[in-house]
Amino acid sequence: MMMGLQIADQLNRPLRDLRISVTDRCNFRCRYCMPEEIFGLDYPFLPKDKILTFEEITRLAELFVSLGITKLRITGGEPLLRKDLPTLIRSLSHIEGVGDIALTTNGVFLPKYAEELRAAGLERVTVSLDSLDDERFRQMNGGKAGVQAVLDGIQAAAQAGLQVKINMVVQKGVNDQDILPMAAYFQEKKINLRFIEFMDVGNTNGWKLDQVVPKQQIIDLIHEQMPLEPIEARYKGEVATRYRYQGTDQEVGMISSVTDAFCSTCTRARISAEGSLYTCLFASKGYELRDMLRSGQTDDEIRAYIERIWRGRTDRYSEERLSHTQVSSKIEMSHIGG
Ligand code: SAM
Ligand code: SF4
Ligand code: SF4
Repeated sequence: MMMGLQIADQLNRPLRDLRISVTDRCNFRCRYCMPEEIFGLDYPFLPKDKILTFEEITRLAELFVSLGITKLRITGGEPLLRKDLPTLIRSLSHIEGVGDIALTTNGVFLPKYAEELRAAGLERVTVSLDSLDDERFRQMNGGKAGVQAVLDGIQAAAQAGLQVKINMVVQKGVNDQDILPMAAYFQEKKINLRFIEFMDVGNTNGWKLDQVVPKQQIIDLIHEQMPLEPIEARYKGEVATRYRYQGTDQEVGMISSVTDAFCSTCTRARISAEGSLYTCLFASKGYELRDMLRSGQTDDEIRAYIERIWRGRTDRYSEERLSHTQVSSKIEMSHIGG
């Protein structure tokens, strides 16, 4: 595999992972991400001409790969709402130097697209599922789908030969009673489940620190019923803290952006659907790349701009969070996709 240039930011973190949002729209209205009262019928979603084309995304991905990116993740909004997504996956999978392409999805459209995505070169999907209780799940996603629709998606993905992981956002008082049932269900199914601490992304989800269930509490809760043992990190910067159910090789993970931040090893850049570069999930400012792509700038010029931005990067929001929970006007999660 060809390795790109290695560039490091101000905290000596290389550029390794690129998350690409392909749409700001979603068929769900998860309360913690796109609450219906804000993302309603009259919400001004991006018009088509403001969204990067597949050619533009591929060109940017190539430039990022030449700067050290080896892993791509497609996200949204709901990425499977983007028409012909397998076509984009196919062109990204042809970029030399890309070692891994993954997709984060709510899963509902996987029965329709899993085979095609796999054939196009997708290797992994992360499916978000916050509860196995139908009523609670519907409450959380704005009444847009039941649990079975997502389980069907998970099954379709596995059958198509995609590696599957599940993400569960845990919100105290909302779905913390689902931690154990989810752990037991996915252990039995031999699918990796990751618990995610509820985060203060964007400005619309009404985040409060007391709605976070700390990673250690989740571990303790599961450990009491289903004993766990820690697994060594595979590489520096691994987002999830991983455990194994004792006596099995089945894993479970925790993503603890709030109580145990991992900024010091954060190698992730993000591109929003309209082509802005964000150097942190919690950034309030993006760097416009779309106009550069559309105004005839050369690859070298755009590459130099991205390089300059990364080299100047100082973000470590989660490490600083507890000292400044009030930050003005952050980018919404549905815009850059987690
Ligand atoms: N629509 C796709 C999905 O839900 O998987 C992809 C985009 S979604 C923004 C990506 C991930 O971010 C999902 O796993 C979702 O649960 C997570 N997420 C959204 N808002 C969050 C929040 N406030 N705290 C923690 N995770 C969040
Ligand atoms: Fe949509 Fe994903 Fe946000 Fe839920 S978390 S509203 S599925 S983008
Ligand atoms: Fe990376 Fe920003 Fe998250 Fe820290 S807060 S891990 S810098 S995205």
